[in-house]
Amino acid sequence: MRACQLFLEKDKYIIPRQISLLKFQHPMKHLWSPWRMTYIENHEKQAGCVFCKAQSQADSAENLIVFRGQQAYVILNRYPYASGHLMVIPFVHQPNLEILHSETRAEMIELASLCTTKLKEIYKAESFNVGINIGEAAGAGVLGHVHIHVVPRWAGDTNFMTTLGEARVLPEALADTYQRVKAAFEK
Ligand SMILES: [Zn+2]
Repeated sequence: MRACQLFLEKDKYIIPRQISLLKFQHPMKHLWSPWRMTYIENHEKQAGCVFCKAQSQADSAENLIVFRGQQAYVILNRYPYASGHLMVIPFVHQPNLEILHSETRAEMIELASLCTTKLKEIYKAESFNVGINIGEAAGAGVLGHVHIHVVPRWAGDTNFMTTLGEARVLPEALADTYQRVKAAFEK
C-alpha cells in the first residue's frame, strides 16, 4: 500500500499537512514509508517544540542530533521517508526564513549540502529531495520552527518490490542510523 493511500484513510483534516513534503516533488508520494503512520498518529499529541526540546538535550540516539554548527544543526528525522532522512534546523525558534539572519540561512544551505555529501558516503544515495515546508497551508510538520528536509533517494526506491528486495532502502533501526551518520559527520 502506498504511503499516500495510508494518509487518505486517516482523518481527512490532516491530509494536507502530512503529504506536504510529497507535493513539492511529485515522485516522493510513491516512496513506501508506512512507518510514518506512527508520526501521524502521535504528532498532534506532543506539547512544545520538538526541535527546541532536542537541541536543549545532550546529543545521543535519544535526541538524534548528529552535528551542531554555529547557527544551525543537523538532526535525523524520527519518522523518516527513507533511512538517512535528515533535517537542518536553526537554533533560533522562528517560523520562516525571512526572520532568520542571513548568516543562519547561509549556514543552513551549507549544512544541507554537507548532508548530501555524507549521505552519498554512507548510503550511496544517488539523488535527493531537499525542501522546506513553510506555513500551515504548505503543510509544515513543525509550524513554529523552520527546517530543511534532506531525503536520500535511489533509483527504483519508489517501487514496492525493489524496496522489499534490496536492503539499501529498508528501514534500519534509528539508533544504528544515528551512529553511522554521526560518525560520518565527525570525520
Ligand atoms: Zn523550536
